Amino acid sequence: MKTIAGFVVLMGIVLFFADAEVLAPLDGLAVYFVVSGLLVLTIAQLAGSREKHWLCRIGFHDFERQERVEELPAMRWYRCKRCGKEKHAASIV
Ligand SMILES: [Zn+2]
Repeated sequence: MKTIAGFVVLMGIVLFFADAEVLAPLDGLAVYFVVSGLLVLTIAQLAGSREKHWLCRIGFHDFERQERVEELPAMRWYRCKRCGKEKHAASIV
């Protein structure tokens, strides 16, 4: 996730300079180019990967409660229904 975010930000900056150079009179709008650049890149990232649900790619996993963690009875395993990502978290039930 960090790698993707870093890549998007870097590309946004590159885009900013590219657009600012060509469209100098529209300097005040440069931020919109950065934003649109980030949006396009985000969409490209989401569209480019089909192995995971798009919600999973942005960190919204659909976790389902699994069995307890053996070593830590207060913890339970959670598994994402879409991509199978696992985590464990405290659970009182
Ligand atoms: Zn997931």
